[in-house]
Amino acid sequence: MRDAQDLPWVQPLYHRHNALSYYGTPTPFYGLTPTDCRGHSSIMGGKSKDDLASKVSAALAETYPGVTVEVGRIERWDRPCITVRWAGFADLLPEERFQRVVKALPDKLRKAALSGYIWLELAPGESIDAFLKHPRSEDIAGKEREIHNHLKKLGFYEALASTMGGSPKTSCGGDFGQSIATLRDRKATAAKQRDARLLFIRHGAFCDCQVLETILPELEKPIGR
Ligand SMILES: [Zn+2]
Repeated sequence: MRDAQDLPWVQPLYHRHNALSYYGTPTPFYGLTPTDCRGHSSIMGGKSKDDLASKVSAALAETYPGVTVEVGRIERWDRPCITVRWAGFADLLPEERFQRVVKALPDKLRKAALSGYIWLELAPGESIDAFLKHPRSEDIAGKEREIHNHLKKLGFYEALASTMGGSPKTSCGGDFGQSIATLRDRKATAAKQRDARLLFIRHGAFCDCQVLETILPELEKPIGR
C-alpha cells in the first residue's frame, strides 16, 4: 500500500493544497449560520457539479464502499463544497478522514477537486456542527511532550513494535488499528487514545507503521523550548 509519508502532498496535508477543508477554512468562517450543501448550485452549473460529484464518488467507492459525494455551495462559508459521507468516518478524527479521501483520489482529480473547495468528511447523519467540534492536531500544541511521555510510561511504543514485528510496513493496516488496540490493552482512557492519535497526526503519521518509523525517532529528539 501507499504510505502517506511517501507522498509529498501529505505533509503538511492541508496547507499544500488550495483546498478549503475544515483545516484550511479560515477561522472567521466559523460560527456562521449552519446549513448544508444541498440545493445550493447558484455558481456551479448542475452538470459540472454532478460530473465532479460522480468522479469523486467513483474514485472513492472502491476503497470506501457505500460512500456518497455531494457537490454544492455551502452558505455557511459561502463557498463551493464537496461533502463526502461514509459510515467508516464515524471512528476517525477529521484529519484522518481528509487524509483518507485525498489519498484515494487520482492525481488529476485531486488537483481539480481540491482547489477552491471546502471539503467536509461526515459520517451518515453527522451534522457540520458536530463535525467541527471534533479535536484537531493543533489542539494539542504544547502538550506533545506530555503525551509522548505518557505513551512511554505505558510502554506503548515497545508493545506496538512487538505487535507489528520486524516489518511494520508489511503488517500495517493503513490506520491506527494496532496503536488503538495497544492503548486499550494498556487501559489508556478514550481521551488519552485520542490525544495519542492527535500527536501522531501532528507529526504527519496516519498509520501504525508511521508511528514507529517516522514519529518515534522524531519524538525522541529533544524539543527546544
Ligand atoms: Zn503504515
